[in-house]
Amino acid sequence: MTAPSFVDVAVIGAGAAGLSALRRLSGQPLTVVGLEARGRIGGRAHTLLREDYAIDLGCGWLHSADENVLARLAEAEGFTIDRTPPPWESQAFNLEMTPAEQADFRSDFAAFEQRVAEAAAIGREGPASDLFDPDSRWNGRIDAISGALNGAKFREVSIRDYDAYRDTGVNWRLTDGYGRFVAAQGHGLPVVLNCPVSRIDRTGALLRLETAQGLIEARTVILTVPTDLIVAGAPRFDPPLPDLVEAAAGVPLGLASKVHMLVTGAEDFSKDGQLWGSNDTGDTGGYHLRPFGRPMIEGYFGADLARGLEAEGEAAFFAFATDELVDLLGSNMRRRLTFASASMWGADPWSRGAYSHALPGQADARARLRAPLENRIFVAGEATSDAFYGTAHGAWVEGARAADEALAALGLGVAVE
Ligand SMILES: Cc1cc2nc3c(=O)[nH]c(=O)nc-3n(C[C@H](O)[C@H](O)[C@H](O)COP(=O)(O)OP(=O)(O)OC[C@H]3O[C@@H](n4cnc5c(N)ncnc54)[C@H](O)[C@@H]3O)c2cc1C
Repeated sequence: MTAPSFVDVAVIGAGAAGLSALRRLSGQPLTVVGLEARGRIGGRAHTLLREDYAIDLGCGWLHSADENVLARLAEAEGFTIDRTPPPWESQAFNLEMTPAEQADFRSDFAAFEQRVAEAAAIGREGPASDLFDPDSRWNGRIDAISGALNGAKFREVSIRDYDAYRDTGVNWRLTDGYGRFVAAQGHGLPVVLNCPVSRIDRTGALLRLETAQGLIEARTVILTVPTDLIVAGAPRFDPPLPDLVEAAAGVPLGLASKVHMLVTGAEDFSKDGQLWGSNDTGDTGGYHLRPFGRPMIEGYFGADLARGLEAEGEAAFFAFATDELVDLLGSNMRRRLTFASASMWGADPWSRGAYSHALPGQADARARLRAPLENRIFVAGEATSDAFYGTAHGAWVEGARAADEALAALGLGVAVE
């Protein structure tokens, strides 16, 4: 569709939060448009097809699935859900980790999370790594998990924010791709693609949005771009909104990256198994063997390791993963693996990272970020969710919340689904 010149609500970004907002607003007696920078909808939810397999470059798991609105929606819409529990806490073949060591690691990680919960309960703030047990041999592995969970090491993660995340321990997947499911939610919604918004002039009674497809005037705006883009001034507000930028800077995006590889002789591995590369360092990959039983391995890298590999380019992920898998499984892995895809969310100008974490001392930044501005600018996305930040369903709930606020601001009260 082409960009209109005036709307009641402009939704900036058509990822999970933006699509949710647009869905909530549809059917209302309003003019509404979604403005999406990329040539596709879905944002950090994105499924590729390789060898007929759906590969999720961004979100893959319906986390906290028993409380996840998108799990319910996917079920209602007939998408196939795989309920195989994730293998993250195990090490296939007990490679370089005996069962006793695996139990020891799980116990140390649980004790760490318990200390985080106790500290948060008395309002203590600071880097979560302050609560490491200096005598634990597993602090490197715990930081590798932080890389996957937060896209950052625990020294960069707020105690109170980490504790606020709600993990029910139930995780499902969408067989045909989470990204495909999220993109399907955009069907029939008014979204203008290839339409980045670069500036929002808020001097007048109407907000004036400068976009790649011309000027649009809007009574209200729902802003769903990733926090690092708000900080970078993409879009830029005139006059500036320093409090908004400061709040966004408190919840920057960490980086998590995936590499998918095809593997020959896949039947040597059990379906949905897991290997961690190294025991002693946070700079190691997690390897999901035969996801959905497919002849593939999905490598997952977080934080500094992901940033370093991204800086070297896509091939570096495959090279690093191959080296770690050769160390674990023997040199014939080198010829058994073929590169399929790698994600590059940090280099992508429309994400600049994977998902948000609150910096130490910034546990209240999510609330500040979602505070309405002048009752006409409403911010939503994974980063504004307290309990489900960093997730697609958190973004979805927040998009609906922002839409309700925009409706109320326009005198239409709260929409009923
Ligand atoms: C590697 C990886 C693994 C993940 N795994 C999971 C998982 O297993 N489960 C889970 O629930 N979540 C996971 N996530 C997180 C999840 O994908 C995100 O939290 C969610 O998709 C974010 O949705 P959003 O709407 O907040 O932001 P986005 O999806 O980033 O949407 C924002 C949109 O705004 C657009 N945009 C940006 N700037 C502009 C501009 N100036 N003008 C117009 N448009 C603009 C972008 O192109 C984008 O489409 C993962 C993410 C990554 C990267």
